[in-house]
Amino acid sequence: MDLLNTLVDKGLRRELPTRDEALAVLATSDDELLDVVAAAGKVRRQWFGRRVKLNYLVNLKSGLCPEDCSYCSQRLGSKAEILKYTWLKPDQASEAAAAGLAGGAKRVCLVASGRGPTDRDVDRVSDTIKAIKDQNEGVEVCACLGLLSDGQAERLRAAGADAYNHNLNTSESTYGDITTTHTYADRVDTVQKAHAAGLSACSGLIAGMGESDEDLVDVVYALRELDADSVPVNFLIPFEGTPLAKEWHLTPQRCLRILAMVRFVCPDVEVRIAGGREVHLRTMQPLALHLANSIFLGDYLTSEGQAGRADLDMIADAGFEVEGTDEVTLPEHRASGGCGSRGACGSAESDAVPEARTDLVAVRRRGAGTDLAPNA
Ligand code: SF4
Repeated sequence: MDLLNTLVDKGLRRELPTRDEALAVLATSDDELLDVVAAAGKVRRQWFGRRVKLNYLVNLKSGLCPEDCSYCSQRLGSKAEILKYTWLKPDQASEAAAAGLAGGAKRVCLVASGRGPTDRDVDRVSDTIKAIKDQNEGVEVCACLGLLSDGQAERLRAAGADAYNHNLNTSESTYGDITTTHTYADRVDTVQKAHAAGLSACSGLIAGMGESDEDLVDVVYALRELDADSVPVNFLIPFEGTPLAKEWHLTPQRCLRILAMVRFVCPDVEVRIAGGREVHLRTMQPLALHLANSIFLGDYLTSEGQAGRADLDMIADAGFEVEGTDEVTLPEHRASGGCGSRGACGSAESDAVPEARTDLVAVRRRGAGTDLAPNA
Protein backbone atom coordinates (compact mmCIF):
# COMPACT_ATOMS: atom_id res chain seq x y z
CA MET A 1 0.00 0.00 0.00
CA ASP A 2 1.50 3.33 -1.05
CA LEU A 3 -0.18 5.04 1.89
CA LEU A 4 1.58 2.83 4.42
CA ASN A 5 4.99 3.09 2.72
CA THR A 6 4.65 6.87 2.76
CA LEU A 7 3.61 6.89 6.41
CA VAL A 8 6.49 4.64 7.46
CA ASP A 9 9.00 6.85 5.60
CA LYS A 10 7.58 9.94 7.23
CA GLY A 11 7.47 8.33 10.68
CA LEU A 12 11.11 7.27 10.47
CA ARG A 13 12.01 10.87 9.57
CA ARG A 14 9.62 12.41 12.16
CA GLU A 15 7.85 14.16 9.33
CA LEU A 16 4.21 15.16 9.81
CA PRO A 17 1.76 13.20 7.65
CA THR A 18 -0.95 15.11 5.84
CA ARG A 19 -4.40 15.19 7.39
CA ASP A 20 -5.69 13.12 4.48
CA GLU A 21 -3.10 10.44 5.20
CA ALA A 22 -4.09 10.37 8.87
CA LEU A 23 -7.76 10.12 7.94
CA ALA A 24 -6.97 7.33 5.47
CA VAL A 25 -5.48 5.24 8.30
CA LEU A 26 -8.78 5.49 10.18
CA ALA A 27 -10.66 4.47 7.03
CA THR A 28 -8.67 1.31 6.28
CA SER A 29 -10.58 -1.94 6.06
CA ASP A 30 -10.24 -4.99 8.29
CA ASP A 31 -8.44 -6.73 5.42
CA GLU A 32 -5.74 -4.07 5.63
CA LEU A 33 -5.52 -3.95 9.41
CA LEU A 34 -2.50 -6.21 9.95
CA ASP A 35 -0.59 -4.23 7.31
CA VAL A 36 -1.46 -1.03 9.16
CA VAL A 37 -0.24 -2.48 12.46
CA ALA A 38 2.96 -3.77 10.85
CA ALA A 39 3.69 -0.38 9.28
CA ALA A 40 3.09 1.61 12.46
CA GLY A 41 5.03 -1.06 14.34
CA LYS A 42 8.13 -0.24 12.26
CA VAL A 43 7.88 3.38 13.38
CA ARG A 44 7.35 2.33 16.99
CA ARG A 45 10.43 0.07 16.94
CA GLN A 46 12.58 2.76 15.32
CA TRP A 47 12.06 5.11 18.28
CA PHE A 48 11.29 2.76 21.19
CA GLY A 49 12.51 -0.69 20.24
CA ARG A 50 10.45 -3.38 21.94
CA ARG A 51 10.35 -1.59 25.28
CA VAL A 52 7.07 -1.07 27.13
CA LYS A 53 6.96 1.59 29.80
CA LEU A 54 4.69 0.83 32.76
CA ASN A 55 2.88 3.62 34.57
CA TYR A 56 0.97 3.31 37.82
CA LEU A 57 -2.03 5.40 38.79
CA VAL A 58 -2.65 6.59 42.31
CA ASN A 59 -5.96 8.37 42.75
CA LEU A 60 -5.18 10.89 45.47
CA LYS A 61 -8.73 12.24 45.67
CA SER A 62 -11.63 10.36 44.16
CA GLY A 63 -15.04 11.63 43.06
CA LEU A 64 -17.01 14.71 44.16
CA CYS A 65 -15.74 16.91 41.33
CA PRO A 66 -17.57 20.18 40.59
CA GLU A 67 -16.81 19.97 36.85
CA ASP A 68 -19.18 18.32 34.39
CA CYS A 69 -16.94 16.33 31.98
CA SER A 70 -19.55 13.99 30.56
CA TYR A 71 -17.20 11.00 30.17
CA CYS A 72 -16.08 11.07 33.79
CA SER A 73 -17.39 8.91 36.62
CA GLN A 74 -16.18 11.54 39.12
CA ARG A 75 -18.15 14.42 37.58
CA LEU A 76 -20.74 16.64 39.16
CA GLY A 77 -23.97 14.63 39.41
CA SER A 78 -22.34 11.29 38.52
CA LYS A 79 -24.44 8.38 39.71
CA ALA A 80 -21.60 5.91 39.17
CA GLU A 81 -20.99 4.03 42.39
CA ILE A 82 -17.30 4.74 42.54
CA LEU A 83 -15.07 5.08 45.58
CA LYS A 84 -15.24 8.61 46.95
CA TYR A 85 -12.58 9.93 49.29
CA THR A 86 -10.60 13.08 49.88
CA TRP A 87 -6.84 13.57 49.78
CA LEU A 88 -4.68 10.56 50.61
CA LYS A 89 -1.93 11.44 53.06
CA PRO A 90 1.65 11.36 51.69
CA ASP A 91 2.43 8.05 53.40
CA GLN A 92 -0.79 6.46 52.09
CA ALA A 93 -0.03 7.64 48.55
CA SER A 94 3.56 6.50 48.85
CA GLU A 95 2.42 3.07 49.98
CA ALA A 96 0.03 2.80 47.03
CA ALA A 97 2.79 3.92 44.66
CA ALA A 98 5.21 1.37 46.09
CA ALA A 99 2.90 -1.48 45.05
CA GLY A 100 2.99 -0.29 41.43
CA LEU A 101 6.74 0.23 41.46
CA ALA A 102 7.27 -3.24 42.89
CA GLY A 103 5.16 -4.53 40.01
CA GLY A 104 7.50 -3.00 37.43
CA ALA A 105 6.18 0.53 36.93
CA LYS A 106 8.74 3.29 36.42
CA ARG A 107 6.33 6.22 36.52
CA VAL A 108 3.78 7.04 39.19
CA CYS A 109 0.86 9.21 38.11
CA LEU A 110 -0.64 11.16 41.01
CA VAL A 111 -4.16 12.16 40.07
CA ALA A 112 -6.77 14.21 41.92
CA SER A 113 -10.32 14.98 40.89
CA GLY A 114 -11.33 18.63 40.76
CA ARG A 115 -11.18 21.70 38.56
CA GLY A 116 -7.66 22.47 39.69
CA PRO A 117 -5.52 22.58 42.82
CA THR A 118 -5.48 25.27 45.47
CA ASP A 119 -2.06 26.38 46.62
CA ARG A 120 -2.63 24.24 49.72
CA ASP A 121 -3.32 21.25 47.47
CA VAL A 122 -0.04 21.90 45.66
CA ASP A 123 1.69 21.83 49.06
CA ARG A 124 0.05 18.49 49.87
CA VAL A 125 1.02 16.99 46.53
CA SER A 126 4.54 18.38 46.87
CA ASP A 127 4.88 16.52 50.17
CA THR A 128 3.61 13.36 48.49
CA ILE A 129 6.04 13.71 45.58
CA LYS A 130 8.93 14.13 48.01
CA ALA A 131 7.80 11.10 50.04
CA ILE A 132 7.66 8.93 46.91
CA LYS A 133 10.97 10.18 45.54
CA ASP A 134 12.73 9.76 48.89
CA GLN A 135 11.70 6.12 49.05
CA ASN A 136 12.12 5.13 45.40
CA GLU A 137 15.28 6.14 43.63
CA GLY A 138 14.86 6.80 39.93
CA VAL A 139 11.07 6.88 39.93
CA GLU A 140 9.37 9.35 37.59
CA VAL A 141 6.43 11.23 39.07
CA CYS A 142 3.70 12.83 37.00
CA ALA A 143 1.04 15.03 38.61
CA CYS A 144 -2.48 15.37 37.22
CA LEU A 145 -4.42 17.87 39.28
CA GLY A 146 -6.53 19.74 36.74
CA LEU A 147 -6.19 23.33 35.57
CA LEU A 148 -3.11 25.09 36.91
CA SER A 149 -2.90 28.68 38.13
CA ASP A 150 0.19 30.81 37.59
CA GLY A 151 3.20 29.55 39.50
CA GLN A 152 1.79 26.15 40.44
CA ALA A 153 3.63 24.25 37.72
CA GLU A 154 6.90 25.79 38.87
CA ARG A 155 6.17 24.72 42.46
CA LEU A 156 5.42 21.15 41.40
CA ARG A 157 8.63 21.09 39.39
CA ALA A 158 10.58 22.38 42.38
CA ALA A 159 9.04 19.61 44.50
CA GLY A 160 10.46 17.03 42.12
CA ALA A 161 7.62 16.35 39.67
CA ASP A 162 8.95 15.21 36.30
CA ALA A 163 5.77 15.59 34.29
CA TYR A 164 2.28 17.03 34.31
CA ASN A 165 -0.72 15.41 32.67
CA HIS A 166 -3.66 17.32 31.33
CA ASN A 167 -5.51 15.78 28.41
CA LEU A 168 -7.08 17.74 25.55
CA ASN A 169 -9.50 14.81 25.21
CA THR A 170 -11.19 15.81 21.97
CA SER A 171 -11.13 18.39 19.19
CA GLU A 172 -11.57 22.07 19.88
CA SER A 173 -14.76 22.15 17.82
CA THR A 174 -16.50 19.44 19.89
CA TYR A 175 -15.05 20.26 23.29
CA GLY A 176 -18.16 22.21 24.32
CA ASP A 177 -20.29 19.11 23.71
CA ILE A 178 -18.51 17.10 26.40
CA THR A 179 -17.81 19.75 29.03
CA THR A 180 -19.34 23.13 29.81
CA THR A 181 -17.55 24.12 33.01
CA HIS A 182 -14.21 24.84 31.36
CA THR A 183 -12.95 25.27 27.82
CA TYR A 184 -10.54 23.65 25.41
CA ALA A 185 -8.45 26.84 25.64
CA ASP A 186 -8.22 26.38 29.43
CA ARG A 187 -6.79 22.92 28.84
CA VAL A 188 -4.28 24.11 26.26
CA ASP A 189 -3.19 26.84 28.66
CA THR A 190 -2.43 24.32 31.41
CA VAL A 191 -0.38 22.10 29.09
CA GLN A 192 1.59 25.17 28.06
CA LYS A 193 2.11 26.22 31.68
CA ALA A 194 3.50 22.76 32.47
CA HIS A 195 5.84 22.93 29.50
CA ALA A 196 7.02 26.41 30.38
CA ALA A 197 7.88 25.28 33.91
CA GLY A 198 10.16 22.55 32.58
CA LEU A 199 7.74 19.72 33.25
CA SER A 200 7.39 17.07 30.60
CA ALA A 201 3.95 17.54 29.07
CA CYS A 202 1.68 14.52 29.03
CA SER A 203 -1.55 15.15 27.15
CA GLY A 204 -3.85 12.83 25.29
CA LEU A 205 -7.32 12.04 24.12
CA ILE A 206 -10.42 9.95 24.69
CA ALA A 207 -11.81 8.04 21.71
CA GLY A 208 -15.30 6.61 21.58
CA MET A 209 -17.35 9.62 22.69
CA GLY A 210 -19.23 9.82 19.39
CA GLU A 211 -16.59 11.95 17.69
CA SER A 212 -15.84 11.91 13.94
CA ASP A 213 -12.60 10.80 12.33
CA GLU A 214 -11.90 14.49 11.66
CA ASP A 215 -12.22 15.22 15.39
CA LEU A 216 -9.74 12.47 16.23
CA VAL A 217 -7.25 13.75 13.68
CA ASP A 218 -7.74 17.33 14.91
CA VAL A 219 -6.93 16.48 18.51
CA VAL A 220 -3.89 14.40 17.60
CA TYR A 221 -2.51 17.19 15.41
CA ALA A 222 -3.15 19.63 18.27
CA LEU A 223 -1.16 17.37 20.60
CA ARG A 224 1.72 17.27 18.14
CA GLU A 225 1.57 21.05 17.89
CA LEU A 226 1.71 21.30 21.71
CA ASP A 227 4.75 19.04 21.62
CA ALA A 228 3.50 16.65 24.29
CA ASP A 229 6.16 14.11 25.27
CA SER A 230 3.58 11.49 26.13
CA VAL A 231 0.16 10.96 24.61
CA PRO A 232 -2.27 8.74 26.53
CA VAL A 233 -4.96 7.31 24.31
CA ASN A 234 -8.06 6.53 26.36
CA PHE A 235 -10.94 4.48 25.03
CA LEU A 236 -14.14 5.66 26.66
CA ILE A 237 -15.33 3.46 29.51
CA PRO A 238 -19.08 4.16 29.33
CA PHE A 239 -19.77 4.23 33.05
CA GLU A 240 -23.33 3.60 34.16
CA GLY A 241 -24.46 6.79 35.88
CA THR A 242 -22.72 9.17 33.46
CA PRO A 243 -24.18 10.92 30.39
CA LEU A 244 -22.06 8.78 28.04
CA ALA A 245 -23.16 5.45 29.55
CA LYS A 246 -24.77 4.36 26.28
CA GLU A 247 -21.86 5.31 24.00
CA TRP A 248 -20.47 1.95 22.98
CA HIS A 249 -18.89 2.73 19.59
CA LEU A 250 -15.48 1.10 19.67
CA THR A 251 -14.30 -2.20 18.29
CA PRO A 252 -10.84 -3.68 18.84
CA GLN A 253 -10.10 -2.98 15.16
CA ARG A 254 -11.12 0.65 15.49
CA CYS A 255 -8.90 1.03 18.56
CA LEU A 256 -5.94 -0.39 16.65
CA ARG A 257 -6.50 2.04 13.75
CA ILE A 258 -6.68 4.96 16.19
CA LEU A 259 -3.43 3.92 17.90
CA ALA A 260 -1.73 3.50 14.51
CA MET A 261 -2.86 6.96 13.42
CA VAL A 262 -1.52 8.47 16.67
CA ARG A 263 1.81 6.68 16.14
CA PHE A 264 2.13 8.01 12.57
CA VAL A 265 1.29 11.60 13.59
CA CYS A 266 3.43 11.52 16.78
CA PRO A 267 6.09 8.99 15.80
CA ASP A 268 8.70 9.71 18.45
CA VAL A 269 6.55 10.38 21.50
CA GLU A 270 5.43 8.02 24.22
CA VAL A 271 2.09 6.72 23.01
CA ARG A 272 0.33 5.18 25.99
CA ILE A 273 -2.70 2.93 25.89
CA ALA A 274 -4.72 4.30 28.79
CA GLY A 275 -8.19 3.68 30.22
CA GLY A 276 -10.46 1.28 28.36
CA ARG A 277 -7.63 -0.97 27.11
CA GLU A 278 -9.15 -4.16 28.47
CA VAL A 279 -12.74 -3.10 27.81
CA HIS A 280 -12.31 -2.27 24.12
CA LEU A 281 -9.16 -4.00 22.81
CA ARG A 282 -9.91 -7.14 24.78
CA THR A 283 -7.99 -10.09 23.26
CA MET A 284 -6.34 -7.76 20.74
CA GLN A 285 -4.32 -5.98 23.47
CA PRO A 286 -1.02 -7.65 22.50
CA LEU A 287 -1.30 -6.35 18.92
CA ALA A 288 -1.65 -2.84 20.31
CA LEU A 289 1.80 -3.14 21.89
CA HIS A 290 3.19 -2.94 18.35
CA LEU A 291 1.77 0.60 18.20
CA ALA A 292 2.02 2.00 21.72
CA ASN A 293 5.17 1.88 23.85
CA SER A 294 3.52 2.49 27.18
CA ILE A 295 0.59 1.23 29.26
CA PHE A 296 -0.83 1.55 32.75
CA LEU A 297 -0.14 -1.36 35.05
CA GLY A 298 -3.11 -2.69 36.99
CA ASP A 299 -6.13 -0.56 37.85
CA TYR A 300 -7.35 2.80 36.59
CA LEU A 301 -8.67 5.71 38.65
CA THR A 302 -12.16 4.44 39.27
CA SER A 303 -12.31 1.14 37.37
CA GLU A 304 -10.40 -2.10 37.58
CA GLY A 305 -7.90 -3.18 34.96
CA GLN A 306 -6.74 -6.73 34.38
CA ALA A 307 -4.42 -8.18 37.00
CA GLY A 308 -1.00 -6.54 37.00
CA ARG A 309 0.53 -10.01 36.57
CA ALA A 310 -1.52 -10.50 33.41
CA ASP A 311 -0.13 -7.22 32.02
CA LEU A 312 3.42 -8.45 32.58
CA ASP A 313 2.68 -11.86 31.08
CA MET A 314 1.07 -10.26 28.03
CA ILE A 315 4.14 -8.08 27.43
CA ALA A 316 6.49 -11.06 27.68
CA ASP A 317 4.29 -13.34 25.56
CA ALA A 318 4.06 -10.73 22.80
CA GLY A 319 7.87 -10.47 22.64
CA PHE A 320 8.23 -7.09 24.32
CA GLU A 321 10.15 -6.14 27.45
CA VAL A 322 9.35 -3.91 30.39
CA GLU A 323 11.40 -0.72 30.33
CA GLY A 324 13.74 -0.44 33.31
CA THR A 325 14.29 2.61 35.50
CA ASP A 326 17.82 2.86 34.13
CA GLU A 327 16.54 3.22 30.56
CA VAL A 328 15.52 6.54 29.03
CA THR A 329 12.06 6.42 27.53
CA LEU A 330 12.30 9.04 24.81
CA PRO A 331 14.68 9.07 21.84
CA GLU A 332 17.79 11.18 22.42
CA HIS A 333 16.61 14.17 20.40
CA ARG A 334 13.55 14.50 22.67
CA ALA A 335 14.97 13.33 25.96
CA SER A 336 17.24 16.22 26.91
CA GLY A 337 15.42 18.03 29.66
CA GLY A 338 12.22 16.25 28.86
CA CYS A 339 10.18 13.30 29.91
CA GLY A 340 11.97 10.07 30.39
CA SER A 341 15.36 11.72 30.65
CA ARG A 342 14.90 11.32 34.37
CA GLY A 343 16.91 14.44 34.76
CA ALA A 344 13.67 16.02 33.89
CA CYS A 345 11.12 13.94 31.48
CA GLY A 346 -14.32 4.03 5.77
CA SER A 347 -15.21 0.97 5.06
CA ALA A 348 -14.22 -0.97 7.98
CA GLU A 349 -16.94 -3.52 8.30
CA SER A 350 -16.35 -4.27 11.98
CA ASP A 351 -16.85 -0.65 12.96
CA ALA A 352 -20.58 -1.32 13.05
CA VAL A 353 -21.86 -0.25 16.46
CA PRO A 354 -20.93 -3.00 18.90
CA GLU A 355 -23.13 -4.18 21.73
CA ALA A 356 -22.77 -2.61 25.13
CA ARG A 357 -20.37 -4.67 27.25
CA THR A 358 -21.14 -3.45 30.72
CA ASP A 359 -19.96 -6.82 31.99
CA LEU A 360 -16.43 -5.62 31.23
CA VAL A 361 -16.64 -2.51 33.42
CA ALA A 362 -15.82 -3.09 37.09
CA VAL A 363 -15.73 -0.20 39.53
CA ARG A 364 -12.46 -0.14 41.44
CA ARG A 365 -12.93 -1.53 44.95
CA ARG A 366 -9.32 -2.20 45.93
CA GLY A 367 -6.11 -0.20 46.38
CA ALA A 368 -5.96 3.51 47.24
CA GLY A 369 -8.83 4.61 49.47
CA THR A 370 -9.69 1.05 50.59
CA ASP A 371 -8.26 -1.51 53.00
CA LEU A 372 -7.64 -3.99 50.20
CA ALA A 373 -4.33 -4.69 48.49
CA PRO A 374 -3.81 -2.80 45.20
CA ASN A 375 -3.59 -4.50 41.83
CA ALA A 376 -0.01 -4.34 40.67
S1 SF4 B 1 -12.21 14.77 34.19
FE1 SF4 B 1 -11.35 15.76 36.01
S2 SF4 B 1 -12.26 17.84 35.95
FE2 SF4 B 1 -13.53 16.56 34.62
S3 SF4 B 1 -15.18 15.79 35.95
FE3 SF4 B 1 -13.55 14.24 35.95
S4 SF4 B 1 -12.30 14.69 37.76
FE4 SF4 B 1 -13.55 16.52 37.29
